[in-house]
Amino acid sequence: MKKIQFILIALLCATFIANAAQKPTVYVLATGGTIAGTGATQVAAGYTAGAITVDQLLSAVPEIKDIANIKGEQIVNIGSQDMNDEVWLKLAKRVNQLLSQGDVDAIVITHGTDTQEETAYFLNLTVKSDKPVILVGSMRPSTAISADGPRNIYNAVACAVDKSSIGKGVMVVMDDRILGADDISKTNTLSVSTFQNPNFGELGIMYNGKPNYSRESMKRHTTKSEFDVTNLDKLPQVEIILSYSNATDLFVNAAVNAGAKGIVTAGVGNGNMTTVMQNALANAVKKGVAVVRSSRITTGPTAQWDEIDDDALGFSASWFVNPYRSRVLLMLALTKTTDYKEIQRMFTEY
Ligand code: GLU
Repeated sequence: MKKIQFILIALLCATFIANAAQKPTVYVLATGGTIAGTGATQVAAGYTAGAITVDQLLSAVPEIKDIANIKGEQIVNIGSQDMNDEVWLKLAKRVNQLLSQGDVDAIVITHGTDTQEETAYFLNLTVKSDKPVILVGSMRPSTAISADGPRNIYNAVACAVDKSSIGKGVMVVMDDRILGADDISKTNTLSVSTFQNPNFGELGIMYNGKPNYSRESMKRHTTKSEFDVTNLDKLPQVEIILSYSNATDLFVNAAVNAGAKGIVTAGVGNGNMTTVMQNALANAVKKGVAVVRSSRITTGPTAQWDEIDDDALGFSASWFVNPYRSRVLLMLALTKTTDYKEIQRMFTEY
């Protein structure tokens, strides 16, 4: 090889290495969902969730390699209706392990939308790092016309690598919007803009591949969270029970008999319930079961001391935490305490 050729090749290699070193490193942890789903045709509404792998997912968005060094990892490949405590613990531990490394800058997690709000909130309370953690999904399978997955993945990575995303807690990026995990809800069964922060509004938008924030969460999260799952291999059993006219004590008694450690109610109005259900829950408290009142209403707090005397009954009220996220918080709360006042404190702080 001539000397000049050698110098040129060496220069090219040095430039390549320097570029790679300048780019942030983002791990994409894949868990399945519609974003990894395939339909029978490009217009079919039906599809199989969790059918393609992380490498296939990433190959649909080669542009992300321009903004980050991407490393893909398949955690599971499931529809998120099957998401469970075991995967949550595995995810939280892996995220914490990766983010403790100096050579990892951010994490993007691909996830089905059905239970994405629960996983996002769980990680918001258990990740011990300020580095960005972004969940992303899609409403259309990868084979659909105008599949939303590739754009959402690009935006999630672009949001994750931006310095302004540090310290904001776990977020969901979908449909060009950035949503906080503390107030997130899936609000539409089909629309690509399904995720909302219904009480306080989204944190910001993605515009031209950059996050543009207009607010941030004042709740405790990530590095300020008191919860630590490092040494846990399971979580306490907590069930959610819906309230409606004529609701009986059937499900409360079933949950108590099945050994539940906590019950969250999805109450009517401001967390109300039939007298018979309330009495059954009061009995559950006497047997050592923690009860948190939440509401089936989409917005507004389930506030203490409205129509129900929580102190007299030993209940806690969920404030702005909806029943699904309340279950997550109560599971974590029960790893530390069973005192309803202490649990109440947590529901006002997280
Ligand atoms: N039910 C599937 C899931 O949550 C598909 C829904 C979706 O990802 O949008 O994984």
